[in-house]
Amino acid sequence: MNDNLHQLRCFGCGSRIAGAEAQPDFRCTQCGELFEVEYPGWVQRRGPDRPNPAALKWLWRERRCSSETLDQSGVWRYRELLPILNSFGNAVTLREGNTPLYHLPRTAKALGVDQIFAKHQGMNPTASFKDTGMTAALSVARERGFEWVACASTGNTSAAMAAYAARAGLRSLVLIPEGKIAWGKLSQAMDYGAVTCQLKTDFDGCLAVLTEVVRSAPIYLLNSVNPYRLEGQKTPAFEIAEAFDWNVPDHIIVPGGNLGNSSALGKGFRELHELGLVARMPRISVVQAAGANPPVRSFAASNGASLEALEAHTRATAIRIGNPASWRKAARVIQDTHGWCIDVTEAEIAIAKAELGAEGLGCEPASAVTLAGLKKLRAKNLISSSDTVVLVLTGHTLKDADYTIDFHRGTLLTQEEAAGHEKEITALRRNAVVVDAAPAAVLAAMKDMSI
Ligand SMILES: *Cc1c(COP(=O)(O)O)cnc(C)c1O
Repeated sequence: MNDNLHQLRCFGCGSRIAGAEAQPDFRCTQCGELFEVEYPGWVQRRGPDRPNPAALKWLWRERRCSSETLDQSGVWRYRELLPILNSFGNAVTLREGNTPLYHLPRTAKALGVDQIFAKHQGMNPTASFKDTGMTAALSVARERGFEWVACASTGNTSAAMAAYAARAGLRSLVLIPEGKIAWGKLSQAMDYGAVTCQLKTDFDGCLAVLTEVVRSAPIYLLNSVNPYRLEGQKTPAFEIAEAFDWNVPDHIIVPGGNLGNSSALGKGFRELHELGLVARMPRISVVQAAGANPPVRSFAASNGASLEALEAHTRATAIRIGNPASWRKAARVIQDTHGWCIDVTEAEIAIAKAELGAEGLGCEPASAVTLAGLKKLRAKNLISSSDTVVLVLTGHTLKDADYTIDFHRGTLLTQEEAAGHEKEITALRRNAVVVDAAPAAVLAAMKDMSI
């Protein structure tokens, strides 16, 4: 493997540079846009570097039985499609990926759709999909000899970065918005030994400060502006395609915050298609919280051609982002795959989360926007009863236990937010009741609470 296998292409002006030539903030010096990793060897149809689809499918399946560390990673198992390291010996892995794909029969029945699945990325080592990107980008940091890595984060990026940095023996710096992240996530960054600074600003403000910091010190930036993050985050597309025996589902629904994940999944499916591993692309739709929806507005105003930043508000802290870095990449994915970009209210998010919980699949509020969005698309008849739909659940329910408890206690939503949804909420709420320490009292409580 050598560095010539990949290069970086600017998503704005199309200029190309070698991987090691990127600026510390990963912005193009010509036009300020982000870069995308590109593999020139794949472009020539019969080039020697072009992967062979049948051989790859066989190899990736074989690796599932392997006891080699890299083969046990659901990211590096597909390493032929992410040749970003000079030596794969530099890969830092916690056996990420290989996450479960769950069937959701009750949701499917309720919505009148044949097949609904949840790809649970919360089942990664630090309990969010960020691990798949972090294993890739942190490995690059290690290979390039950095001692410090850093990110601005709404929580999950910092948890993932801190864990992988600790595994690699690197130091990590985390900038988070004061008071606006879930405690479970902050505790992870501390547990894994990150230097954690809470700044009196929002996520977008933290990223602006960090961009200045990495320009003045040799620190490797691990936000999703780093194109190698997206290379790792594209691999769930491979896992989904493989799970469906390389017949892609009709529709994939992802939450949208900074829009790195939707961009990466789109890139993953596009590469599978271009390399002849799958016959078509799935439709990819992005769902946002109504208080943090610049891309939704952008599609409404200019069909995704320009974007206006705003101050974001939502209890789904992982998607509380007002100036999404990867919006151009995500807009292309939505347009190319004929997906939709929609938003859902706080009440719709809370209800969808409780419904997923009631099917035995806990997730973060930010992940539940996918089901809320599916319900909305189905109500508008934009998804047909014969479609196969995959919801990408991005984070684990224990990341934000306060949110869940507040919902079931009835203290999460304001009256205005809950208006029109009271019946659904009452049917889903399972508050913990205090009863006497006596069997009769417990039996009475069971009777009271069975609806
Ligand atoms: C980061 C994150 C998101 C948003 O992903 P983007 O790539 O920023 O769009 C959604 N859900 C969870 C749980 C996250 O951690």
